[in-house]
Amino acid sequence: MDTERGYIQLIATGGTISAGPDGPLRAASIIKMARRLPADVPIRGEDLLTVPSSRFGVGDLHRLAERVNEAVSDESCLGVVVTHGTDSMEESAIAVELLGAPTKPVVFTGAMVPTRDAGADGPMNVADALDCVLSESAHKLGTVVVMNQRIHAALDVRKLHTENKDAFASGDEGPIGLISPEAVEIVRQPARIGFRSSKLEESVELVTLTTGLGGARLIELAAQNGARGIVIEAFGAGNMAERATKAAACAMEEGAVVLVTSRVPTGDMELDSQAAKAGLLPAIAAGRRLPGPSARILLMALLGEGLDQEQIRTLLIQGS
Ligand code: ASP
Repeated sequence: MDTERGYIQLIATGGTISAGPDGPLRAASIIKMARRLPADVPIRGEDLLTVPSSRFGVGDLHRLAERVNEAVSDESCLGVVVTHGTDSMEESAIAVELLGAPTKPVVFTGAMVPTRDAGADGPMNVADALDCVLSESAHKLGTVVVMNQRIHAALDVRKLHTENKDAFASGDEGPIGLISPEAVEIVRQPARIGFRSSKLEESVELVTLTTGLGGARLIELAAQNGARGIVIEAFGAGNMAERATKAAACAMEEGAVVLVTSRVPTGDMELDSQAAKAGLLPAIAAGRRLPGPSARILLMALLGEGLDQEQIRTLLIQGS
């Protein structure tokens, strides 16, 4: 890549990576603490938000996506690093992917250990994220998450550990790449949806099915409250109790779109015959079964763009 006169934009939003010894770190300090910096490419820092990611609102996702889109549209910008809390990083990454379909690298990173503590992982993660932006091989990856020397695609990534530095995973297929100080190695191309939305519809609920009527009642409540979309985390390979299927079918009849994924993190799923007959849709996009929180962002983006049930069915089925 020709890096002459180009720069990387680093957008800080808060999270554990911003936890400095004397309070929240600003973007300039996050850049300074990076374990290594590219020799010939300036990094421009900006502070967009200073919040734990568990407190992000949909408005924050719009603001972040808008700012990323603006940044990458500058010809001299080679790509963007977003520093972010790890709690909802997967949701922000897929939101930015769907609200921008970026053609330049957009790399999310964060930290599991506060930057003020010994053994903090932020300095290495930031260095890796910057290297990822500059890597020729990472150029067509769209939005990715770089944590613990691994690169995860926005569609695949999920947080699976509350404390471990190796907290993120990519479902059955594993990360799309690996990073060391010497090299960025892409092992497979990411699945991307190829759909761009202008906004996220807020009224989309995520319901996990549990033993007994757990879940079914929440689907009924969501429908009564006028939810435009519902994502269901079903049992195992997509199994649902009858009352939950009936509640979801009623919600569909009232105009909501219902996507079904599994509450189990990995493995394929299939709708059972009742769910398929009721018109529910598997939360599978570009061949990937999405985890519940990411499937919810996908549905918010599809509905936000004004797509109806049939258009969503076509888009998901064609892309899968
Ligand atoms: N509470 C933090 C957050 O903002 C956790 C983290 O960054 O790891 O998500």
